[in-house]
Amino acid sequence: MQIIPGLHQITSRNTNVFIIIERKITIIDTGFRGSSRTIDHALKKLGRSISEVSHIFITHNHLDHIGGLPELIRKTQAKTAVHKADLSFGEQGLPYGGFIKWLLKFPGISFFWPLIYATPDDFDILLEGGEVFDPLGGMEILHTPGHTPGSISLLLRHKKLIIIGDILNNGRGELHLTPQSVSSDMSQVRESVRRLAQINFEIMCFGHGRPIIGEASAMLKDFVKRKNL
Ligand SMILES: [Zn+2]
Ligand SMILES: [Zn+2]
Repeated sequence: MQIIPGLHQITSRNTNVFIIIERKITIIDTGFRGSSRTIDHALKKLGRSISEVSHIFITHNHLDHIGGLPELIRKTQAKTAVHKADLSFGEQGLPYGGFIKWLLKFPGISFFWPLIYATPDDFDILLEGGEVFDPLGGMEILHTPGHTPGSISLLLRHKKLIIIGDILNNGRGELHLTPQSVSSDMSQVRESVRRLAQINFEIMCFGHGRPIIGEASAMLKDFVKRKNL
């Protein structure tokens, strides 16, 4: 699905991957494990090749967004980027809340982290927020923590378009906050959503669900008001 010229969304096992097609190719999120095949297929249909991928951005370090990363690292020469706060597995840094956070406190379980999460070895660029990269006339990194400590949104200011990862999702034509069970800090979630609602954009894209095309920031402002965030 083409969202705007040059930006495509593909959905694999209910999780969205974004592909920016220019002279070089940028991928945002990589789906579950095995998704590189779907990405490869989509690129072929667009007349391009997976070997042309130059950058991969990860909105946050959850299994459904980093699962395809090791395969893509093998198949491309791409530079990979994630927010540094999603690579700190200290008490504050665990990119999960609720039951999973409790489970991860058990000694020895850290041994399994590389199976569940991407680790610092997987990345070339550690983001802090505020960086601007080349795609589509300027893609700005916004640090929007809460779903995970290092969740980012990617703002294409010139295109009035934002990709927000999982902090909100668009299910059944309605906005929903990320559930607490899969989030690291709900008060941060609310604050990040309030900040996002102060930006003007027309199109909002999600990790899960269809994009909102047209008047997206008005809809988000209304959501913030209705939910009293
Ligand atoms: Zn997530
Ligand atoms: Zn997700």
